[in-house]
Amino acid sequence: MEQGGMMFDLNLGGTLSEKKELYEIVIIGGGPAGLTAGIYGSRSKRDTLIIEKLLPGGQVGLTDLVENYPGFPEGIDGPDLVKRMEEQAKRFGAEILTDEIIDISLAGDIKEIVGRSNVYKAKTVIIASGAEPRKLGVPGEKEFTGKGVSYCATCDGAFFEGQEIAVVGGGDTAVQEAIYLTQFAKKVTIIHRRDKLRASKILQERAFKNEKIEFLWNSIVTEIMGSKRVEKIKIKNVKTQEESVIEKSGIFIYIGLVPNTDYLKGKIKLSEDGYIITDENMKTDIEGVYAAGDIRKKNLRQIVTAVADGAQAAMSAVEYLEEKE
Ligand code: NAP
Repeated sequence: MEQGGMMFDLNLGGTLSEKKELYEIVIIGGGPAGLTAGIYGSRSKRDTLIIEKLLPGGQVGLTDLVENYPGFPEGIDGPDLVKRMEEQAKRFGAEILTDEIIDISLAGDIKEIVGRSNVYKAKTVIIASGAEPRKLGVPGEKEFTGKGVSYCATCDGAFFEGQEIAVVGGGDTAVQEAIYLTQFAKKVTIIHRRDKLRASKILQERAFKNEKIEFLWNSIVTEIMGSKRVEKIKIKNVKTQEESVIEKSGIFIYIGLVPNTDYLKGKIKLSEDGYIITDENMKTDIEGVYAAGDIRKKNLRQIVTAVADGAQAAMSAVEYLEEKE
């Protein structure tokens, strides 16, 4: 069944282990930032819990090939990379539980993290709950999610064998995933709102060389149409205002990320665009609370910067615990 990217509706049912009364470090989010914080926290012999909503890995768990993470000259597939990080965190004693955090109380020495299944208590908290794909917000998008609309090529690409599909966006993700999708699709049309890609040059070159990829420049999607599944996409040229309808059986949307901060609103200092503001040691405006990875206000969102954030956040938490002792 198509998953529509991150729109999973799985209930994994419960936890991977039993929670303790009080942790020294609770990490929210099990992507590269959270898992690395877990490695550093547990390796410092601190009771460390990682709480992940679904499966450890975050967005990297949905990426087919990671080519720019040092140490893997041939590249490594995303799920494999995060599996290794998870094993490494567990090896030093970090616990990993499955729960979705819905509220949080950060004031005071003992922080309370409220999940759907449990309430967790911690002396320090590292927020690494990442970001999720931004939605287009056009008619048909929600209705056809999992029926031709997807946010995850790795999950859903194989359903489009021999078909004509579209990818929306001009960043690294859109271009990388468009290239990946050419393994399955007959033709991949990248729909981008400008006439220049934002993606890195190496990805651009590969996409321009790929005979299965074509571009629709200066264009935005205004509607996704079909009866039971996606059949057509309505496009508007933003220069000429001309509207057209193209026939596609799938549309993969990669127009950036929005931080997962719903449970944090009013509880911690966020930037105007909703990211957590930290200093260079990953400290937030609240004592004993740190942020790491894509959820943090910063310039470069990469696995390598997420893991660096995670390491720093954990070491700041350890330092804070030492000061309190
Ligand atoms: P991104 O870099 O923010 O790019 C988003 C793209 O979507 C941009 O081209 C943007 O257009 C377009 N866009 C935004 N809102 C739109 C809307 N409402 N309608 C139509 N188009 C819209 O996001 P991303 O590609 O998901 O990447 C996120 C981060 O992960 C980036 O820091 C990226 O470098 C990183 N990443 C890196 C790699 C890699 O290194 N291999 C792979 C994947 C992701 P404009 O260009 O006009 O703004």
